[in-house]
Amino acid sequence: MPENIVILGSGCAGLTAAIYAARANLEPLLLEGSQPGGQLTTTSEVENFPGFPEGVDGFLLMDHLRKQASRFGTRFRNALVESADLDGPVHRLQLTDGSTLETQALIIATGASPRLLGVPGEQEMYGGKGVTTCATCDGAFYRDEVVAVVGGGDSACEEALFLTRFCEKVYLVHRRDELRASPIMAERALQHEKIEPVWNSVVEEILPDENGNTRGLRLQNRATGKGSELACRGVFIAIGHIPNTAPFRGQLRMDEAGYLLPESGSQVRTARPRVYVAGDCADSVYRQAITAAGMGCQAAIDAERDLGEAFGVAEPAVADRA
Ligand code: NAP
Repeated sequence: MPENIVILGSGCAGLTAAIYAARANLEPLLLEGSQPGGQLTTTSEVENFPGFPEGVDGFLLMDHLRKQASRFGTRFRNALVESADLDGPVHRLQLTDGSTLETQALIIATGASPRLLGVPGEQEMYGGKGVTTCATCDGAFYRDEVVAVVGGGDSACEEALFLTRFCEKVYLVHRRDELRASPIMAERALQHEKIEPVWNSVVEEILPDENGNTRGLRLQNRATGKGSELACRGVFIAIGHIPNTAPFRGQLRMDEAGYLLPESGSQVRTARPRVYVAGDCADSVYRQAITAAGMGCQAAIDAERDLGEAFGVAEPAVADRA
């Protein structure tokens, strides 16, 4: 028997979709993906999720969402999708463990993964030798050290500010001469005594010491053309994300960056019947926890209606949703 509905991803979008689908008695199966809880589990404090005037810990927020989805009957499975066949009335998913799944409806909420620089030294020193994309996870390893954050957005500022708790000094290396971050984040970062911006600077190489650990960055100044070295023990890369949509290439419409594109007139419906998108895998503009949650909610409500029309799986339970 195919599943009623499979939800891919356990971030804000996937878990919100699961809460709604479970409350509509669809008994959703949620595949948690490679990072259970999604990107918010690597954030320290979430200050802009409505309902938390003092802010909320990202990990705690995701834990609450998971418990809420579980309470209404969501089933969870630790699995990754390798490819998908969305041609027929029932959708087939090939999983990386070799098994397959069939489902009548599919919500894709696979999120996005950190973008890397693609420079020499990055892969060699990634994870454990000084190069990372997560200050919350790895910041404490750099107590009293000098580190560099690469990027100029909200993530880079947030990472830099978090690192000031442990590190002696935090360079904020950005390729332009102004930050892309929101004014409040930019101001907090630039006014912090431990944070020093390094403007107009492109990372050309991450330099190893004699033991293969990070000792610094080789930079080029875009304004002057001059090269330089910046000594640091840790490099925190915060230059945006890449949507996790590879299994759906050729099956669903996406833009050149790989973001899934819904059909015109809908935020979450695709051209395939009962296939929906939600969250960062389909949103290159807002990319917020609250907008991802909103898309997850929309996708589940649309799925519930479409399943009711196609198979009579569940009566729309509009009154139950209040
Ligand atoms: P982002 O806003 O896309 O910023 C990426 C930064 O990395 C930009 O400054 C960009 O430079 C730089 N960059 C991109 N590719 C690069 C490369 N190859 N080499 C060097 N630098 C590169 O990404 P984000 O900071 O991850 O934020 C994503 C979204 O999440 C945003 O909407 C943001 O507001 C939101 N967010 C919010 C919070 C919060 O409110 N607490 C925290 C984190 C993220 P350019 O500026 O030159 O393009």
